[in-house]
Amino acid sequence: MRASGKLMVGNWKMNGSLAANASLVADILAGIDNVSFQAVVCAPFVYLSQLQSLLVGSTVALGSQDVSMHEAGAFTGEVSASMLRDFGVRYAIVGHSERRQYHGETDVLVASKAQRALAAGITPIVCVGESLAEREAGQTEAVVKRQLAAVIHANGHCISEIVVAYEPVWAIGTGRTATPEMAQQVHAVLRSQLQAATAHAERVSILYGGSMNAANAADLLAQPDVDGGLIGGAALKAPDFLSMLKAASC
Ligand code: PEP
Repeated sequence: MRASGKLMVGNWKMNGSLAANASLVADILAGIDNVSFQAVVCAPFVYLSQLQSLLVGSTVALGSQDVSMHEAGAFTGEVSASMLRDFGVRYAIVGHSERRQYHGETDVLVASKAQRALAAGITPIVCVGESLAEREAGQTEAVVKRQLAAVIHANGHCISEIVVAYEPVWAIGTGRTATPEMAQQVHAVLRSQLQAATAHAERVSILYGGSMNAANAADLLAQPDVDGGLIGGAALKAPDFLSMLKAASC
């Protein structure tokens, strides 16, 4: 669901500790000086309870980095959407390229996860993006459209309640960022695809992710179809994350 301002999401990945999280959140909360954007931190499952307490009464929302495609039952190691709701989780990343790549997640599985999140009142942040080989083969548009189509197909009219994150795989954690023009081009494709699927496409925030940092955030966020950012490495450093939030408030 599109936030009224930019939506800035930190993906902490498998980083953190009780002490490090407390210190990072304290620094972030101390540095946020306006609320013209929506900030979210997506923490590892085991720290969601800690983060729920740390963020209480703040403007920063809590997110998870995944959610089970199952509702409940004999699925050892899985965490359901309703469990996430119990801990105040409002956003869940689904289909991050690291899960597609290392855990074999398919478009259909990602679509089911988005469905579970929506059913529990959690906004799924659906990640799409092409590999370097796919970009070089001229397949970027086809790949991201195929990934989003699976989610549209499974979620019908609820599709206007999702967030989409365009994350070119070659830009994640590599220091290589898509240029603002490259990002805008793909975001415009995704926006048209959403417009063809729902009369409420304007509600969907489309985030850019992939080595977004304090130096390049403003230019990326200035693009007409870039509604925010999904930020990995730079979200672990409070000054960098705060400077990106500042860029999002302009
Ligand atoms: C991510 O994990 O979604 C991401 C974009 O990582 P980074 O910002 O480190 O490239």
